Amino acid sequence: MSKKDSEGYLSEVFSSIQGEGGIVRGSCFGKRQIFVRFSGCNLAEGDSGYIGCIWCDSPCAQKLESLKFKYEENPGSQKLINSNNHVGIEEIIRIIKNLITPDLHSISFTGGEPLYQPDFVLNLSKALKGTRIKYPLYLETNGTIILDNSQMKQLATYFKYCCCDIKDLSSKVAPLDPWKNLVITELDFIRNMVKYGTETFAKLVVTSQTQLHNIRWISKELSKITYSDGQVVGLAIQPVYLESKELKDKYSISTAHLNNIFYTAAEFLPSESLTLSIQAHKYLKLL
Ligand code: SF4
Repeated sequence: MSKKDSEGYLSEVFSSIQGEGGIVRGSCFGKRQIFVRFSGCNLAEGDSGYIGCIWCDSPCAQKLESLKFKYEENPGSQKLINSNNHVGIEEIIRIIKNLITPDLHSISFTGGEPLYQPDFVLNLSKALKGTRIKYPLYLETNGTIILDNSQMKQLATYFKYCCCDIKDLSSKVAPLDPWKNLVITELDFIRNMVKYGTETFAKLVVTSQTQLHNIRWISKELSKITYSDGQVVGLAIQPVYLESKELKDKYSISTAHLNNIFYTAAEFLPSESLTLSIQAHKYLKLL
């Protein structure tokens, strides 16, 4: 592996509890994970007119070439120390080893958008598999970066679990037509990950502005993606969590609208494939 392939940009590494995902196949909700947060997001700083999701909770990770990243040295301390980007795979493995606790379930690759640095993700995954760190890998991705077939297969070999964020139109990430294309790409990504054997589910952040006809379309398409045992892929519906009062007033979802979203999704998806997701770590003030 050349030096270039063994280094990349991170934002944070820390230990915490996975707060999202609810109860659906592929979710690791409630499990202890080591989070490796990659820098850079194609939807935030791409050349295609994207402006990032209005609810992005990791704006620090949107920019690729940040000079610093932070990591937790003692698991559970919630104290992060600074280090310099870019960072090498050996250094990341050292940090991960220090964060292993008896309750560790899996290692989460999150962002930003991890697949903005696909070779770095694949090389780090491969290197981890070659160590004694035998924990499953979990990928959180927006699913909009198109990988070639061989990269997709490798990805699915390394990652046992995957959460693919389908962006609702109310995320404001793109105008209508480019947004439709993003969703189609995300659905293709989920289809491929399931086909290659990764336990994958879709997560959809919903707001007061979420339109039921979009839920109908997305749920109908998801209902066509099944595992080899016939189970339909899962959808985790996550009410938006916003901090600013202005955004909260505009986008926070009412119980009635949330119920309608569930009823609409259930027109196509079996109830075992539907779950509520909340950002439990935010309510518990965990990292
Ligand atoms: S895709 Fe994720 S990292 Fe990128 S802008 Fe949206 S929420 Fe933020």
